[in-house]
Amino acid sequence: MKRRDFITTTALGATALAMSACHRKEETSKTGTLPLNKGKKVTLKLATSWPAHFPIMGTGVDSFAKRCFELSGGTLEIKVFPKNILVPALQVFDSCAAAQIDAFHSGVYYWKGKNPAFSIFGGMPLGLTSEEMITWLKFGGGYELWREMYAKFNLYPLIGGTTGPQMGGWFKKEIHSLADLKGLKMRIPGLGGEVMKRLGANPVLLPAGEIYTALERGTIDATEWVGPALDTMMGFDKVANFYYTGWHEPGSILEITFNKARWEKLSDEHRAIITAASEEMTGTMLQEFRYKNAKAFKELPGNVQIKTFPKEMMDAAKVALKDIWKDESAKSEDFKRVLDSYKAFYNLNKPYDDISTKNFLEIRG
Ligand code: CA
Repeated sequence: MKRRDFITTTALGATALAMSACHRKEETSKTGTLPLNKGKKVTLKLATSWPAHFPIMGTGVDSFAKRCFELSGGTLEIKVFPKNILVPALQVFDSCAAAQIDAFHSGVYYWKGKNPAFSIFGGMPLGLTSEEMITWLKFGGGYELWREMYAKFNLYPLIGGTTGPQMGGWFKKEIHSLADLKGLKMRIPGLGGEVMKRLGANPVLLPAGEIYTALERGTIDATEWVGPALDTMMGFDKVANFYYTGWHEPGSILEITFNKARWEKLSDEHRAIITAASEEMTGTMLQEFRYKNAKAFKELPGNVQIKTFPKEMMDAAKVALKDIWKDESAKSEDFKRVLDSYKAFYNLNKPYDDISTKNFLEIRG
């Protein structure tokens, strides 16, 4: 770009920005919200689905609240309540919709019973990575759909962190073929669990606190959790030897969701601070997962063998996933709309990602 073009474009950009700021001011004064908070103290109650200060996810939301306080000069205080203090872990969605709490931090895939489409906002087996998911949500139309569908529950969602690629889980016996999955009892939630079911396994849901004992006693044969950092903290390496590489949660998205009416009553300033702090939290969480997983992976005990699932199993998983898409789309118009948007971004992104990221990683070796 020539220097003169740059100056003209920048000047135009600045004018456009000033105009949109003007517009925004008019818009907000119409709805009666304040552009600036003017020092008025606001306190919000946020409940999570995690135990207090749970590593990475729980500490991430603690830091988010601290950042909101710092960035607002102390005018925005977000009080974090760990699971079961104000509301049970998996009732945060309903409580927030009913305005019993102002916000919550949780995993989107927990709410597929409310609307099957919600599971896609949380991530897709064999699908987009964390960075790709965030790009789809922010630039590919995902956020618009998510916010439209959550608005029906009087909720306003923001991305509240992401895990990076998760491991495939801990198995007590090695998986040599598809036939080895028959009747296998595995703790695995969401669409990944649905795929495993179609491959002949028996997916079960267990609260975090019961997984270790179930695996140790053989009540379940396998479990997935997150990755080396959190999995070894749970002690799974002590009761299962085969640690499989991942496929079912390549980029799970967490949410920091607000009661919509409460969100709209906040000043522009506080909404901007919350949005900025949520972006910071998302980046930091992804980096923290990357670092701590790398470190924990290096320190895995000698009994642990890293395995990759047989090709015939992954081929069958791809077929099962497409069948699930078909079945869910036939049942739910929302699922179909979100899936179409997701696929459109996937298809846009893949050709360049293959020759940039994938190709480079192969060159780097
Ligand atoms: Ca998981």
